[in-house]
Amino acid sequence: MPTTMIAYVEQQQRLVSDGDAEPSDGGDAGQENIGAIDVTAAGDIALAARDFGGMVFIPPATLLRPSTTDDVVRAVCVARGSSRLTVAARGNGHSVGGQAMARGGVVLDMRDLGPPMELVRCGGVAADVPAGALWEEVLEWGVRNHGMAPTSWTDYLGLTVGGTLSNGGIGGQAFRHGPQVANVTELEVVTGDGERRVCSPSLCSDLFFAALGGLGQFGVITRARIPLVPAPKMVRWIRVVYKGFEEYAGDAEWLVTRADSEAFDYVEGFAFVNDVSDPVNGWGSVSILPGSVFDPAKIPAESEPILYCLELALHHNHRGAAGVDERAKEMMWPLRYMRGLVFAADVSYVDFLSRVGRAEEEARANGTWATPHPWLNILVSSSDIADFDRTVFKHILRRGVGGPMLVYPLLRSKLMHSTFLSLLFPGWDPRMSVAVPESEVFYLVALLRFIAPRAGDAALEEAVAQNREIIGCCRSKGYDYKVYIPRYESEADWARHFGRDWARFVERKRRYDPIAILAPGQTIFARAEPPAAAP
Ligand code: FAD
Repeated sequence: MPTTMIAYVEQQQRLVSDGDAEPSDGGDAGQENIGAIDVTAAGDIALAARDFGGMVFIPPATLLRPSTTDDVVRAVCVARGSSRLTVAARGNGHSVGGQAMARGGVVLDMRDLGPPMELVRCGGVAADVPAGALWEEVLEWGVRNHGMAPTSWTDYLGLTVGGTLSNGGIGGQAFRHGPQVANVTELEVVTGDGERRVCSPSLCSDLFFAALGGLGQFGVITRARIPLVPAPKMVRWIRVVYKGFEEYAGDAEWLVTRADSEAFDYVEGFAFVNDVSDPVNGWGSVSILPGSVFDPAKIPAESEPILYCLELALHHNHRGAAGVDERAKEMMWPLRYMRGLVFAADVSYVDFLSRVGRAEEEARANGTWATPHPWLNILVSSSDIADFDRTVFKHILRRGVGGPMLVYPLLRSKLMHSTFLSLLFPGWDPRMSVAVPESEVFYLVALLRFIAPRAGDAALEEAVAQNREIIGCCRSKGYDYKVYIPRYESEADWARHFGRDWARFVERKRRYDPIAILAPGQTIFARAEPPAAAP
């Protein structure tokens, strides 16, 4: 790393350590002499003050680019020795509510962290990955160099390993292999007391499970060990359309509860507007390859304003295209989709996993990647999802959200048999910090809102108000639900979010980050004074 990154300079520099003021422009009452971190360029401050959500702007005092775990240790120790500094690890800044920000504190841009990825053999094959690596980099490295890949993915791969492990990491493979937090066997973590610790299910296991889905509260993850399996070369990618939620959800739940030998490799799905004129939310959002035609004649006239698309994938593995044809046919015949509204293509595994990257290119081109993203992700129990559909999709969101509305089932406690350490983990191990609904089957609902470039503040306010209404509705109707990638402002809301695990969350914070230095952007704990030095 550039050695100036954390420079233990003799001549101490003055940085803003609290409040909204811009950094590095001289000292006054709001400033503190911390003496160990060099001054940051204004452009870096602007980067660290923003995220994908584009709705909050919180300038830190400084942005650092650690290249080793020791750099992270030093940054945490500097903050710990100060009276007010906090430290936020920033993955790729794809949060939407300032979660990776630190007001007047230190933001660690994790993207340059080393060492490079390495293959390890420990009962099976795994990759030791620096936490700032993007999942797309892990995919590229694993497939190109070793023909191997992790089993559990997010839809979009421009996210960091440390970022998704701090939340959950959910995608269409999770019903079968568990979320990404269930597909890691060892972590290296720098805790809030400045200690570097290696942890696993058998070594410092409490820290290991605390960090998984821990919203960055207990330590900065610097390295993760991720099991790998041989990567398939090709994938059959299929979409089928449903006119009613009952058939859609029934089929989706049936598919995710099949034995592995009878299961697809990927199951997801989304709701969309029954309307040709809406290119983002409507019929046009369903076809897989450009040129395939969505035939509206296949939709019954009495259909409701919202339709559903089940998205499936089957790896070719040893089967070859003909074998996949036969297998897909066999697995799909019981499904109740609208015959004729089937879209399928054979694509490479890498292209399949990179599909949202292509959507990113389009969004960048049309300007919607840069506009605010008031996204809302909720996990809703299977017992409440039909009512959620009636109330939210068919009523509040009947005109769509300007982007995908994902809705697909996940299993809470499936035992996995597919990776070498899998029998150790149920799908969502209750020892992990991440909060999920009580029910065995629950749905991910992801409202991925894109605001048109010239839509103005009113469109954003309306979207935010709708999100509030949806959460209010989940709460008032007493659904078994959790917000995924949550952001609350009050302790009461956080306590409600974690439910009976709140006391454990607080205790873990006290144990690993006693003066609440880490991840202040989650607004869960307030930074405390350092303990007084012994006389
Ligand atoms: P950041 O947003 O930078 O950080 C997120 C939080 O984790 C912050 O609190 C930060 O301080 C903390 N953190 C980051 N790195 C570390 C670390 N090394 N150690 C400790 N704490 C750390 N999520 C899914 O589950 N499935 C999806 O399919 C999916 N698709 C997405 C698609 C897009 C286009 C976007 C924008 C987001 C998507 N997400 C998805 C959400 C994503 O998981 C979160 O945004 C998550 O925050 C990861 O982003 P990041 O790596 O940029 O982390």
